Amino acid sequence: MNTSRGIFSPNTFPNLFNFWNRFPEAVIIAGATELLHFQAKRIPEFPETILLLDRMEELQKIDRTERFLELGAMVSLSRIASLGKIVPTVLLQCINEVADIYIQNLATIGGNIACNGDLIAPLVALGASYEIRSGTIPPRRIPASRFLSIKNELKSQELISRVLIPFEQWDYAQFRKFHDPTPDHPSVLALLLARVERDILTDLRVAVSGTSFSFYHDREKCILVSERLPIKKRDIRAFMESWKNSPATLEALKDNTFQNSIINFIYFALLSGLSE
Ligand SMILES: Cc1cc2nc3c(=O)[nH]c(=O)nc-3n(C[C@H](O)[C@H](O)[C@H](O)COP(=O)(O)OP(=O)(O)OC[C@H]3O[C@@H](n4cnc5c(N)ncnc54)[C@H](O)[C@@H]3O)c2cc1C
Repeated sequence: MNTSRGIFSPNTFPNLFNFWNRFPEAVIIAGATELLHFQAKRIPEFPETILLLDRMEELQKIDRTERFLELGAMVSLSRIASLGKIVPTVLLQCINEVADIYIQNLATIGGNIACNGDLIAPLVALGASYEIRSGTIPPRRIPASRFLSIKNELKSQELISRVLIPFEQWDYAQFRKFHDPTPDHPSVLALLLARVERDILTDLRVAVSGTSFSFYHDREKCILVSERLPIKKRDIRAFMESWKNSPATLEALKDNTFQNSIINFIYFALLSGLSE
């Protein structure tokens, strides 16, 4: 096995995967913010062999097709925010709450997804999918929700190359980030998306992230979906019971400092947006 140290900065996929093949232990670095996140030393430690993605033009691309906003994995969070109205509101709100503008300038969408960052909750709720590349097989697409349930599904020498976000109209969107001041405790996000067509609720999604992640899609149970607006308070309470008692929500709210705040946030979001 080759044991050389080094930093390699490829500009094409063949170059990248050639290098990775020769140095399988090489670690991908995108914006490098996560790498430095928990390092207290004055001189930070770096992996022995590094694959920098910053010269990969292909990964910097932003495309807009009829159905999707397509973002290369190296697109920074601030560049996404600068796209304005074509970016779904919950994703914009989430980006605005990631650290500060300096981190947002460096941090990339691919890096955020790979290290289970905040963007995962809106991306799952929006029905996004990720394009995964390796040197040997053609690119494959994985729904964001599946990527999460098969955690660390990235095999060795695979990377996230693109993120595809469907252009869908959301009539009602609520997002809240709860900050935990305790060091090493992740912040918690809660968000709700709803679509209404001719006064009928046609889609409702709730996501909560923190130490664990939950996604609840009411299209499967149809407790509120298909109801005419304004929705009765008793139906909202029935939805809350079903959501709170689903296995994923129970897990996400277990030992969660913000348990009551999250429940209240979702309840009042439903009441104020959809109820009588
Ligand atoms: C002060 C500070 C505050 C922060 N606050 C927040 C916050 O509020 N919310 C939040 O979500 N995060 C936060 N972070 C963590 C981090 O900055 C982000 O999650 C960021 O988006 C990571 O992106 P990056 O491009 O810097 O990734 P990097 O640090 O370069 O990489 C992170 C990991 O992802 C892997 N990786 C990178 N790109 C890819 C790819 N395309 N495919 C596969 N693997 C890849 C790397 O190998 C590495 O393991 C904070 C960090 C700092 C330093």
